[in-house]
Amino acid sequence: MSDSGKITLALAGNPNAGKTTMFNALTGARQHVGNYPGITVERKEGFATLATGGEKREFHITDLPGAYSLTAYTQEELVARNHLVDERPDAVIHVLNAGSLERNLYLTVQFLELGVPVALGLNMMDEARKKGLTIDSDKLGELMSAPVVETVARAGKGVKDLLAAAGDLAETRKDHTWSPLEISYGPDLDPAITEMTEKIEAAGFLTDRYPSRWLAVKYMEGDEQILTLGRNADIDLAQELEAVTARVSEHCQSTMNTYPEAVIADFRYGFIASLLKQGIVRREPLRERIEMSDRLDKVLTHRALGPALMLGVLLLVYQITFSLGQHPMDWLGLFFGWLGETAESLIPEGLVQSLVVSGIIDGVGGVLSFVPLILIIFFLIAFLEDSGYMARIAYMMDRVFRMFGLHGSSVMPFIVSGGVGGGCAVPGVMASRTLRSRKEKLATLLTAPFMACGAKLPVFILLAGVFFPHHEALALFLITLSAWAFALFAARILRSTLIRGPSTPFVMELPPYRMPTLRGLIIHTWERTWQYIKKAGTVILAISILLWAAMTFPPPHEADLAPLNEAVAEAQAHVDGFPEDTDQATLAQAEDDLAMAEAALAEAGLANSLAGRLGRALEPVSQSAGFEWRTNIALIGGVAAKEVIISTLGTAYSLGDVDPEEAFSLAGHIRSDPTWTTPRGIALILFILLYSPCFVTVVAIRQEAGSWKWALFSIVFNTALAFGVAVAVYQGGAMLL
Ligand code: GDP
Ligand code: MG
Repeated sequence: MSDSGKITLALAGNPNAGKTTMFNALTGARQHVGNYPGITVERKEGFATLATGGEKREFHITDLPGAYSLTAYTQEELVARNHLVDERPDAVIHVLNAGSLERNLYLTVQFLELGVPVALGLNMMDEARKKGLTIDSDKLGELMSAPVVETVARAGKGVKDLLAAAGDLAETRKDHTWSPLEISYGPDLDPAITEMTEKIEAAGFLTDRYPSRWLAVKYMEGDEQILTLGRNADIDLAQELEAVTARVSEHCQSTMNTYPEAVIADFRYGFIASLLKQGIVRREPLRERIEMSDRLDKVLTHRALGPALMLGVLLLVYQITFSLGQHPMDWLGLFFGWLGETAESLIPEGLVQSLVVSGIIDGVGGVLSFVPLILIIFFLIAFLEDSGYMARIAYMMDRVFRMFGLHGSSVMPFIVSGGVGGGCAVPGVMASRTLRSRKEKLATLLTAPFMACGAKLPVFILLAGVFFPHHEALALFLITLSAWAFALFAARILRSTLIRGPSTPFVMELPPYRMPTLRGLIIHTWERTWQYIKKAGTVILAISILLWAAMTFPPPHEADLAPLNEAVAEAQAHVDGFPEDTDQATLAQAEDDLAMAEAALAEAGLANSLAGRLGRALEPVSQSAGFEWRTNIALIGGVAAKEVIISTLGTAYSLGDVDPEEAFSLAGHIRSDPTWTTPRGIALILFILLYSPCFVTVVAIRQEAGSWKWALFSIVFNTALAFGVAVAVYQGGAMLL
């Protein structure tokens, strides 16, 4: 400790290890700059204070010039060495570049050989981590017998800890004895070094300043400064020592064709290598992985082969999602069907029953039925992302999508939403999470719902069967194609108006491929899915109840219902009244009558409900697209879920419950109705393709876009676009026909 009671520290390290940055972080403004006397090397000094456990420590810190070693080859190295020897700081803070530890430790070893107390600051840990290095600093400290602290000097991280460690070290070495490390330099040098050390010690040769063995090694290295100092101190001993080194040098040259200096350097590096071999630095074999990646990319991003393989991967993702998801979705469907029936049998018929079954159970079932899809899609996306392939997809698709103001990564949301027909926009919208740029993400998630999702398909199949008999497949293909056209077109419009802004430059570097870990995949998947269940669940249940209410309230007037109820009761009595042996035809006729009476009752309820009234109120407007009020009601119901369109249309046409899978009666009805012209059919198909996303998707949009504003926008924008297209088709068709 210096006289002033301050702990004196020297900052040392290779050039560019971050010493000066560290020095500034430690001392702040409390520093001054001068020169070492007679030379141009800068001398920086500063002060620092550290309060630890009520005790205040003062430090005087000197920033030494950068040095790779402590030989006397350069002026900087000599200045650093002289500072240590002449001023004997209480401790040295050795700043190392953690990213090239092996080379940096060469200087450390020399500090240890000199015996000066040294605290190691493993600096630039941020970059080391980026390079994929992990360093066991505790173990390094153990092996080096020196405190080790990981730092990021530029961010001031770990700087205080390093100072505290140096302070502790200085206190334990208060007696100022240095304890030099003794490295073996092999059978050729070791005996000679020992011989010289003994001579040096016996004569007390320069030992007031330098450790004896260190001096012997310096003689071996032919260190100019020490040789001169030696000759001036004791010319006889100096010559003796020089004779020993000459002998060893000759021996080295004749046997190994090398010099003692080189042998010494080799053994120092050997010492470092043996330390590092004990698992201090673990590095991901980055170079190997990059080479491997490059080889893979020759195929995977090949001009022709790449896109073909990518299409295969996307189709596979799609297939896995929906075929694997189908089973749990079916089970959930069965379960909620059973739950609904149970509730029906337990709760007396009426509003409460209707609320529980159609409002709550259907709502919760609606939320949960998407969970398997979301789980699977997120698992697969996590796999593609973690493995590095997602970046390749984006890279390959970017040139196409960029034209529409989108990003290469937009392809996944589009495909999942139904870009190949039969997807689902809920996981599709969520898949837009892979997009980093907010504007491109918005444009993607707003247009992905245009795709022909699985819930729209049955409606398309029904209508295609009616209007394009024998050409259903072609019709469905064209529908899917127009979905893409409209999505890209709408994206282009949005990106030139509301969400205008430059495309993110495609600077995405292609990260090397890696095998994802199962643990990572599961965590990613579960986090995202749980978020959906938690956030969407509550909102979706509430909206589901609202939609139920809109299709139930207000109930029809008693007076209007009475005859319908009577008709149902009469038909029921008629069916019940037949004796056991009544022939099948008569019985079937009576049952049909009953079904028709019940359908009329249901129609009356729907027609009078808020949704029904809205459907009627909208008729004057919707007429221009060819939709009368019954279609309107079905479309309103379709906002709950697109698969509801067929069943609602069935109810509105008082056809009773129409199962979407066997909607023959509805198809027959439409076919035989002359007002259902082909333009009206096409207008309806395109309207259903494009109009407001179902509300589960709307909630997903709200979640991904981060605000209800965009969720509401998607309802309004999509519906307006859909209506515009439907009107154009219907009116255009009417003019042509
Ligand atoms: P010196 O030659 O040892 O004095 O090194 P400097 O303090 O001048 O630092 C060299 C360069 O490394 C500068 O550009 C610093 O900003 C940068 N640097 C210093 N410490 C860190 C660190 O912990 N992380 C990173 N990333 N850069 C650092
Ligand atoms: Mg510097």
